Amino acid sequence: MTVLVLGGTGEARALAAALTADGVPVTSSLAGRVAEPVLPVGDVRVGGFGGADGLAAFLREAGTSAVVDATHPFAATITANAAAACAEVDVPLLRLQRPGWSAQPGDDWRWAASLAEAATMVHGTVFLTTGRQGVGAFAALPGRVLVRSVDPPTEPLPAGATLLLARGPFSVTDEVALMTGHGVDVVVTKDSGGHMTEAKLTAARQLGIPVVLVRRPALPAGVAVVHTVAAAREWVASR
Ligand code: NAP
Repeated sequence: MTVLVLGGTGEARALAAALTADGVPVTSSLAGRVAEPVLPVGDVRVGGFGGADGLAAFLREAGTSAVVDATHPFAATITANAAAACAEVDVPLLRLQRPGWSAQPGDDWRWAASLAEAATMVHGTVFLTTGRQGVGAFAALPGRVLVRSVDPPTEPLPAGATLLLARGPFSVTDEVALMTGHGVDVVVTKDSGGHMTEAKLTAARQLGIPVVLVRRPALPAGVAVVHTVAAAREWVASR
C-alpha cells in the first residue's frame, strides 16, 4: 500500500511520520509555495500536479492506494482537485482537517465570508495575519497595516504597510508585546485552527482587541473527514 499525503501543514508532517513509523510507504506532496519549507520525513515531491487530471494521472502512475488530503483548511483548490481525481481513478480519499477555533469568554470576534469582506470591516491600525496569499484584498486600506507572513507577499500591499516576516509558533507574550508596541486596533485572521498561530487570539482577548475571522471554504461533498492525525492514521491502518 502506498499513501499520498497532500501536505503543507503540521498535521501532514505528523501523519507522514506516524505512517512511516507504521511501515506504510508514504509520499508527501508540497505545493512549493514556501522558499524553505519544513520537510516531512520520507519521500517528498514538490509542485503542482496540473489540476485534477494531472493528479489523477499521478495517482495512476504511482499506483497510489489511498490519499489523505491534509492540506490547509483554506487550500480549497487542491482539496477540490483531490476529490475529483480520487473519484476519477477510484482511489479512497480522506480529508484530515483540524477543527476551527472557538470563541471564549472575553473574545470580540467578527466573522467575514471572505478576505474582501474582512477588508471592509477593519479600521485604524490593522494586524493582518492571513498569510501572503490574498493579501492584495487589503491593498486599499488607508491606515497602518502590519502584514505578517512567512515569505514576502507578491501582491500589492497597502501604502501604510509594515512587513513582518516570521514563521509560527508565536508565544502569547510576544503577540501581546507586538500588538501593544504597534498600537494594533484590530487583528485579521483566517479560521485556520490549531495551536501554531492561536496565541494572537489569546493576546487579542487579553488586550480587548477585536478579531475579524474569515470563514473556511466549504468541503467537497461526499468526502470522509477526520480532525486528528490519530484518526487519519487509523483510517489508513483500516484499509
Ligand atoms: P490551493 O489554492 O488549494 O491550490 C492551488 C494549486 O496549488 C493547486 O491547484 C495545486 O496545483 C497546487 N497545490 C496546492 N497544494 C498542493 C500540494 N500539497 N501538493 C501539490 N500541489 C499543491 O492551495 P494554496 O492555498 O495555495 O496552498 C498551497 C499549499 O500551502 C498547500 O499545500 C497548503 O496546505 C499550504 N498552506 C496554505 C495556507 C493557506 O492559507 N491557503 C496556509 C498554510 C499552508 P495543481 O493544480 O497544478 O496541482
